[in-house]
Amino acid sequence: MQNAKILRLNKAGTPIEWISREEAATLVVKDQVVWALGEDAFVIRGGINRLGRQSILSLPSILASDGRVKLNDFVPPLVNSYLFRRDQFLCMYCGGEFRADNLSRDHILPVSRKGTDNWTNVVTACKRCNHRKANRTPEEAGMELLAVPFVPNRYEFFYLANKNILADQMEFLKSQFSQNGNWFLSIDRKTLT
Ligand SMILES: [Zn+2]
Repeated sequence: MQNAKILRLNKAGTPIEWISREEAATLVVKDQVVWALGEDAFVIRGGINRLGRQSILSLPSILASDGRVKLNDFVPPLVNSYLFRRDQFLCMYCGGEFRADNLSRDHILPVSRKGTDNWTNVVTACKRCNHRKANRTPEEAGMELLAVPFVPNRYEFFYLANKNILADQMEFLKSQFSQNGNWFLSIDRKTLT
């Protein structure tokens, strides 16, 4: 895949970041890869040496490397693109599936009424439903929420942050999904729309 990235873990196997092939190649060349998982996903061709041979570097799809990382208090940044992906691009009120430009971030308890801007108080809503709900709670508006919003864990966040995940990377991340994450992935769109 053209835009695929490599999942970098720390030595303990916790996801740290998505990195480019070039960044992964640098880690391999500097001998900083401690272990790797998954298939050799990419091949990078380097320069041609004096013997006329081209250097070839194969890169795994998941690698663990040295390096200091701050791991405590992980809170995934609340960004609309991640939020919409968490909610599978479905409006959590009418159940319709929309493109990102027809979606919005709805605060379940409106901000004007001291609702906070965090993962558990926001859902994806189509612009129409958001407009209709206006400055009210779902109960007041008579609009039922289709799912309970949740804070993505680290593994779910790495899923949300990359649209081009390879199969073995997905397997790795999914093994640590919470019940929420698994449930959201399995939403049957036909029952909603
Ligand atoms: Zn809607």
